[in-house]
Amino acid sequence: MNRSEQLSRLADTGEIWDVIVIGGGASGLGAAVDAATRGYRTVLLEQADFAEGTSSKSTKLIHGGVRYLRSGELGLVRESLRERGRLLHNAPDLVEPLAFVVPAYRWYERLFYGAGLTIYDLLAGKRGIASTGYLSASEVAGKIPNLRQTGLYGGTLYWDGQFDDARLAIAMAATAVANGAVVVNHLKVDALVRENGRLNGVVARDMLDGTEYRLKGRVVINATGVFTDFVRKMDDPGVSEVVRPSQGIHLVLDRRFLGGDTAVMIPNTEDGRVLFAIPWKNRMILGTTDTEPVPIELHPKPLAEEVDYLIRHAGLYFSEAPTHDDIKATFAGLRPLVSPSKAKAGSTAQLSRSHSLLVSDSGLVTITGGKWTTYRQMAEDTVDLAAKTGNLPVAPCLTGDLPLLNKEPLRRGALLDPELPYTMEDVEQAVVGEMAMTLDDVLSRRTRSRFLDEAASCRCAKEVALRMASLLGRDDRWVEDQVSGFPARSPLD
Ligand SMILES: Cc1cc2nc3c(=O)[nH]c(=O)nc-3n(C[C@H](O)[C@H](O)[C@H](O)COP(=O)(O)OP(=O)(O)OC[C@H]3O[C@@H](n4cnc5c(N)ncnc54)[C@H](O)[C@@H]3O)c2cc1C
Repeated sequence: MNRSEQLSRLADTGEIWDVIVIGGGASGLGAAVDAATRGYRTVLLEQADFAEGTSSKSTKLIHGGVRYLRSGELGLVRESLRERGRLLHNAPDLVEPLAFVVPAYRWYERLFYGAGLTIYDLLAGKRGIASTGYLSASEVAGKIPNLRQTGLYGGTLYWDGQFDDARLAIAMAATAVANGAVVVNHLKVDALVRENGRLNGVVARDMLDGTEYRLKGRVVINATGVFTDFVRKMDDPGVSEVVRPSQGIHLVLDRRFLGGDTAVMIPNTEDGRVLFAIPWKNRMILGTTDTEPVPIELHPKPLAEEVDYLIRHAGLYFSEAPTHDDIKATFAGLRPLVSPSKAKAGSTAQLSRSHSLLVSDSGLVTITGGKWTTYRQMAEDTVDLAAKTGNLPVAPCLTGDLPLLNKEPLRRGALLDPELPYTMEDVEQAVVGEMAMTLDDVLSRRTRSRFLDEAASCRCAKEVALRMASLLGRDDRWVEDQVSGFPARSPLD
């Protein structure tokens, strides 16, 4: 993928696209892959980088959602488990099985969670990963050496999927392009264009050089996550808002705080939340919180009380408790939760409790809510509706078994930093083949350096920026701007 090549395909102002997708997170990229593989002429515009919004800040689980069992949402769990199975099959390099232990500190918990997780297995059916099983206290200790042993009765072992969210997003962008779509990052939609009351295009601005693009299309899909209502208001300033953002944060810690390769799931903390401690690359991630109301922004900051909450809970469950000084990085993301009553108030078609679809009077198709795991189903529903709205020729969805293209990271040569599992060849691939345009694109989403170790990322920032500048034809001033802007956008600020 090359950004200049992609942009050059937008130069023809007479071209009429079948589908214009606004937003390059899980929802938008999923829709672009789906639409392109159906044969629709598709373009996707992302104001920042692919997955720079919520989609790079998830817990990195492809999961059925054990928590929905508790609320009896079996249909939602079944849908998620089906999509989990598909992703394990369609993106085997990017999604892998992960074993979880639910520790039991009360005598009845092992039975209770064991029964629930057996239902989880049954709902997965032939797409199940491996069977749920009971563990003794010493077996739990063997798998998670740093878990608090006092009062431990044992645990339940179950399986889910784990992935690298931003890398999956790049694989989806590459798959969309391979199927004829145009996808462009750092291109922001500023306005929607209508004729005779129907939407028929967008005005977009290149955030890197200011160039304006006017694109015409038969249908416009709004897949902008927590920014959904901003785009809906471009269409109809009087429309009532449907998205209620809720913030979740994660702490990134040394792997020794977990020990081993097994994740821990605490289904019911003292205030009823679910807490995950998960091995991820060379680290452990601990999350998540659920805080609202919060302002809508692309780079939300972790709140001090959220960090304190996670550190305090780590202290409850781990023998060697991490302190604030042990935090290698943090990341905060905003869940685009949909307020159901408000969604109903518009002209809506609510297809599933996991995600919501809306169509405005002028034909803007909005997809919001849902989760990474179900992005493919969400995309199928979205494109079905978009095709109807835009009077596109009927074409079946082909993504059920579609492999997602992934270029294995290279990892040859010296590491960028002893704390980071990446080399300069990863940087080069990101720039040359994956449309990385800024230092943050490379260090946050093509490599996950910044999510793994903030200080190490700052240490190698200059060297990476210099190499990028030589590949992109940028000057010293650009290098200076990128490096000086880098700590300012730090999630630890
Ligand atoms: C803390 C947390 C943990 C989570 N963990 C998991 C998990 O483990 N597993 C799971 O399945 N799901 C998880 N989720 C849910 C999942 O991450 C989200 O549902 C998903 O990433 C949302 O994707 P999206 O594309 O709708 O939104 P986003 O990823 O936010 O994408 C929207 C994009 O639209 C762009 N945009 C906005 N306005 C414009 C404009 N005018 N022009 C062009 N582009 C624009 C934005 O820049 C952004 O990139 C988690 C969510 C959170 C918050």
